[in-house]
Amino acid sequence: MFNRAVALMDLSPGLEEKIRVCNATYTVRFGVRLRGQIHTFTGYRSVHSEHMEPVKGGIRYSMGVNQDEVEALAALMTYKCALVEAPFGGSKGGLCIDPRDWDEHELEQITRRFAYELIKRDLINPSQNVPAPDMGTGEREMAWIADQYKRIHTTDINGNACVTGKPLNAGGIAGRVEATGRGVQYALRAFFRDTEGVKKAGMSGTLDGKRVIVQGLGNVGYHAAKFLSEEDGCKIIGIIERDGALFGEDGLDVDKVRSWISKHGGISGFSDRHHVKDGALVLEEDCDILVPAALEGVINLQNADRIKAPLIIEAANGPVTAGADQVLRERGTVIIPDMYANAGGVTVSYFEWVKNLSHIRFGRMQRRQEESRHQLLIDELERLSKDKELGWTLSPGFKERYLRGAGELELVRSGLDDTMRVAYDSMAAVWHGRDDVDDLRTAAYLVAIDKVASSYRAKGL
Ligand code: GLU
Repeated sequence: MFNRAVALMDLSPGLEEKIRVCNATYTVRFGVRLRGQIHTFTGYRSVHSEHMEPVKGGIRYSMGVNQDEVEALAALMTYKCALVEAPFGGSKGGLCIDPRDWDEHELEQITRRFAYELIKRDLINPSQNVPAPDMGTGEREMAWIADQYKRIHTTDINGNACVTGKPLNAGGIAGRVEATGRGVQYALRAFFRDTEGVKKAGMSGTLDGKRVIVQGLGNVGYHAAKFLSEEDGCKIIGIIERDGALFGEDGLDVDKVRSWISKHGGISGFSDRHHVKDGALVLEEDCDILVPAALEGVINLQNADRIKAPLIIEAANGPVTAGADQVLRERGTVIIPDMYANAGGVTVSYFEWVKNLSHIRFGRMQRRQEESRHQLLIDELERLSKDKELGWTLSPGFKERYLRGAGELELVRSGLDDTMRVAYDSMAAVWHGRDDVDDLRTAAYLVAIDKVASSYRAKGL
């Protein structure tokens, strides 16, 4: 995919190669004494590009983790950050572990030990390398990592900025958990504002009434499906999980499915009427928007030609293989690429990092001042509306809505919305503006690689 994009650019071959390669990958094997014996774990932290520092990217816990995967995902982080103008290079980490095999106390020991190995090599550091959650990790693990860093660097006043995705009470930011799903929603809103793009997908109208199939109801898939159905009028007609799928034109209640899964470990038993044993088949059902939000490579050469959705949004990293991408592109399916579609996570991570470095919550200085200025206006309007001759009245609810100053969550959402709109417009300008570009992924690569190239050039490379 990278090669396809650079072929359309005018980069010197040296610079092209410099951008393509992964700068460094650190592999660590460490032992932890658990259940009476020593268990050895293998972990990675890969740094793809340091054209900006710190470098940024999640740490995943999964049995599928390997060096190739971590390096590919680190590269994706470079382009993702460039596209949404988060001032970071790209990195990624992984630990080869199935978190379900271990209890909380054991996971804490393993995480702290892994973090220690990375911290002592500055592969976790507020100014050099800032991890975040990814598949199999979340707020809890990030809190352990931050605490571990602060135990080692006891006098670093910016210690909290060594990792993002922390819980709110441990230096996190409001709206980080929902951020990637929220970003998927904003990305789709941006797409449906682009009438030319919508036409290219052979679609029409807005998000309202669109039939959606989501694969994976983890953090990203859950929030995306919830917001799309609750706020944009979409109907979630399919949910695919590890143990099968739920499918029905009448639509599914996302919150009910999610709480069933957290209680029973899967969708089995939720509703016999909707249950489909072979979940993967539901990817091929007729729908308007397909949201792969779990694993890599789920849309591949085996199923690509049977995918009916005219629009796919890659909420996960790499859910469509390069081969499938070509098949779908040739058929006119529009794919909103991962690099853009799931960049909401790292965008809000950026806000969290800034919050940690500034040591103050967003909105703390302005909120009440904003409210008191609004109060002035309301007082004046109320005075005027008492004047019988003018005959003015305030609409119900206006006063309350107008008076409320923005807190951290509103500011985070507004920053994310702006980021997603600006990035969409930069991709769409290339997609619609160049005859040699016929898909959003190539457009996204062109915008991102161009930004990385200019920062290398500015460094004199
Ligand atoms: N793991 C997420 C991603 O793949 C978030 C990375 C971050 O916040 O640094 O984009």
